[in-house]
Amino acid sequence: MPIAYISHPDCLLHDVGQDHPEQPGRLRAIQDLLISTGMEFALSQYDAPMATREQLELAHDPDYVTMLFTDAPHEGILELDGDTFMMPKTLDAALRSAGAVVKGVDLVMSKEVTSAFCAIRPPGHHAERDRAMGFCYFNNVAVGAAYALAKHGLERVAVIDFDVHHGNGTEHIFETDPRVLFCSSFQHPFYPFTGHETETDHIVNITLPAGTNGEEFRKQVEAHWLPALHHFKPQLVMISAGFDAHISDDMSHLRLREADYDWVTTQLKEIADTYAEGRIVSTLEGGYEVGSLARSVLAHLDALLGHR
Ligand SMILES: [Zn+2]
Repeated sequence: MPIAYISHPDCLLHDVGQDHPEQPGRLRAIQDLLISTGMEFALSQYDAPMATREQLELAHDPDYVTMLFTDAPHEGILELDGDTFMMPKTLDAALRSAGAVVKGVDLVMSKEVTSAFCAIRPPGHHAERDRAMGFCYFNNVAVGAAYALAKHGLERVAVIDFDVHHGNGTEHIFETDPRVLFCSSFQHPFYPFTGHETETDHIVNITLPAGTNGEEFRKQVEAHWLPALHHFKPQLVMISAGFDAHISDDMSHLRLREADYDWVTTQLKEIADTYAEGRIVSTLEGGYEVGSLARSVLAHLDALLGHR
């Protein structure tokens, strides 16, 4: 069965300047490689709808959602935090990004596809219930997970975040909701300097010192995430797929490679196949060196497809 590939041209229009690492070229590089390798033929393409206010408010404070709608600039740039800015096209791109994940949940729950990848930007996992930060506006994966719980009646959703940064926003949104198992791996100490002290039965964080390679990452996943996932038995597996822990990505100091993203995706696919009828919704987070980003996404998709 093909993978849903959910994206939208609006996601290319959010552009806060040449100096900002979160560039439209990230998505173009992914799309180019999927075309040149023929991977696009294994994908069913879907346009991302815009998330509705009702969907966004499943994970976000209504006043915060209102602020983003009313303050969105018609011209110029609005600074929300030190590295998170809104320009006139930002709100549309953010709405498409959250909407893509909601669409992915609907597609896997209706069994139209088994798994979905949301090729979207801006990313989401740093956005908290009432706060934009770290290039993120709406927490796309959290909106999708909350939607799966509220609208599809699921009782157990796992969110796995292998971006090099801690998914502080996702943890913040679900910290008191044991229906969500949140597993995050991240360089530590590192931005946003959260998560290293969190210890609950439904939040399983892996801290990785600078220089950590794929071998050590895999050991940590086997020791911490996989037992927690087997115990939790998720009905849906969601992935915050950031690729900025890649050795070629200057954003961090970890040393993962394409084969490590293939490996971790394969582990998560086995969990989904065992407990969740194979259902996976993955969404793009970070990854700023466009070549390694595109190759890592290709490895991730190939593993989601079971290497065909
Ligand atoms: Zn990141």
